[in-house]
Amino acid sequence: MKKTLLVFLILFSFFSFNSLGQNTENTIEYSYNNFGKKEALIKRIEEIYKQKKKASYTKEHEEELEKFLDKSLKRIKSNLEDSTYIFNEELNSKLNNILQKIVKNNSSNTQEHTILINKSLIPNAAAYGNGLFVVNLGLIYLLDNEDELAFVLCHELAHQNLEHSKQKTDSIIHFYNSKKTKDEVEKIKNLSYGKGKAGRALLKKIRYDITSTSRVNEFAADEYGKKYYLNSGYKEYFAYTSMKKMELIEELIFSKKIAWDSIFSFKNYKFKKHLLEEEEEEMSFFDSDATLDDFEENNPDSLRTHPHIKDRILRIKGEIKDTLNIPKTINSSFKKYKTLAEKLIIKSYIDQNYLDVSFYMLANKLNAENNTFYIDEFSRLLIKLYRLKSKLALGKYVDQPSNSEEKSSLDEIRMFMNNSSIKDIRELIEAYEKHYGLELKI
Ligand SMILES: [Zn+2]
Repeated sequence: MKKTLLVFLILFSFFSFNSLGQNTENTIEYSYNNFGKKEALIKRIEEIYKQKKKASYTKEHEEELEKFLDKSLKRIKSNLEDSTYIFNEELNSKLNNILQKIVKNNSSNTQEHTILINKSLIPNAAAYGNGLFVVNLGLIYLLDNEDELAFVLCHELAHQNLEHSKQKTDSIIHFYNSKKTKDEVEKIKNLSYGKGKAGRALLKKIRYDITSTSRVNEFAADEYGKKYYLNSGYKEYFAYTSMKKMELIEELIFSKKIAWDSIFSFKNYKFKKHLLEEEEEEMSFFDSDATLDDFEENNPDSLRTHPHIKDRILRIKGEIKDTLNIPKTINSSFKKYKTLAEKLIIKSYIDQNYLDVSFYMLANKLNAENNTFYIDEFSRLLIKLYRLKSKLALGKYVDQPSNSEEKSSLDEIRMFMNNSSIKDIRELIEAYEKHYGLELKI
């Protein structure tokens, strides 16, 4: 999969849009406000940050550390404002229950834990220290049973208990404020040319130093995490499949083919196949060379981006034989959380106008599942597509397809969205309305 696809997924809009058009019976509430929980949560997070300030190792750069932590707190609060973190009663309590079970089986530590759910499709989790964790919806969507999810939580709990977040913060502060770094910055400032390049090289070096520590920390978190995991009665095999899925994520996400003909097989309507083809004149595409890691540098722990994931799998798998094809071991009681995560991603991505990803997630659901949720969300998507096209604003939210030879499903969708005229979309909406017996307000 193209890196740009992943990059795209992590970009969050700061604009909030009112939901368009119709009221559905399938509304899933996910805003902290709707649950009246935001104020209490902010208080709790502020408390955590107070503890973090007190608990730092270094007294050397106290002021800088305080600034750093204030910034991090501000980011979390603004994420809460723009609904990057969502609250869903069922999912939040499921995650809390798993974490409580693990804690109960492993320590006498009575620290309070807070799990925030980030609506990102990227499967990831993070430990911010002092009882604060973040789990992405994409993780629940990717994994197939409670054991696999529990392994990730064990890994994060291990990070916390080993105080990795604190270590990392301290080392960042130390590197940025050391005399050595300051001298190097001074030298770069005095360069007559090539300042930008030298600056980037220095940043790269600092980042590399910090990453080397994090490699050691990852192995440690896996080792301790696996102990917590086994102590809690989870099956060893699923620690392995959990990691394996993280490794294969690029193949697992966006791997499904879109069945264009059958999605849009409506009476008196013919889907225009040429909309999926590249137009010669539109070759001004460019590929960003940014990688997922560039966007995750702010993340105190990133489970899947570390290049050493293969080594980590080798270490945790113990006696388990390597398998190329991971069997689908979806636990039926877990399936509802997976579906819920999927619905929440679809809903919030449409809310934020990320129409290509939500299209991908919805496309194969329309025929397979006779569920009005998907039909209603797809209506919402088409209407948004129509409105953004009319306002010439689609480009703000939907990227151009990548210019590589091999087009992914997401590229195809982007092609379709970019190539369709307003008239094309109008026709499609009309056919869709008739087919599903809806009356849509364009
Ligand atoms: Zn980790």
